[in-house]
Amino acid sequence: MIGVSACLIGHEVRYDGGHKRQKELQQLVDEGRAVPICPEVLGGLSTPREPSEIVDGDGMSVWKGQKRVKTVSNHDVTDAFTLGAQRALALLQSYNIDTVILKEGSPSCGSTEIYDGGFQGMKKAGMGVTTALLQYHGIQVYNEYNWHMLNI
Ligand code: SF4
Repeated sequence: MIGVSACLIGHEVRYDGGHKRQKELQQLVDEGRAVPICPEVLGGLSTPREPSEIVDGDGMSVWKGQKRVKTVSNHDVTDAFTLGAQRALALLQSYNIDTVILKEGSPSCGSTEIYDGGFQGMKKAGMGVTTALLQYHGIQVYNEYNWHMLNI
């Protein structure tokens, strides 16, 4: 069993109310081989919601208390992001899941790149808030581009 970002299997949980469904990933869930998670929804955020970015940092710096997650209108949503990450971790651990496939680029789920905090569509290297927590707890994080490396 693995975990997968809910938006990657067609759940309309993205900030804009949309999804990024990938047929192969949805099939894993349909076959009972993967569990969908959306950390931002688990953290209590509504859908749709304002876009959020980590300001001048990455997921690691958020957990260190150095950086914050803010919406495009400067509303601080750091607490919702960290709560959602903790709930996602607890859910995955309850299934003994040690591998996940998460949506690249997201301030929660990004694993190799995230938006840079300027809300201009620019990305930079780094991981999101949930990915940082999961990796710290030994969970392997793949994304929609590299998950074929997994032997599943
Ligand atoms: Fe939810 Fe992660 Fe998808 Fe954002 S990228 S909608 S937090 S599952």
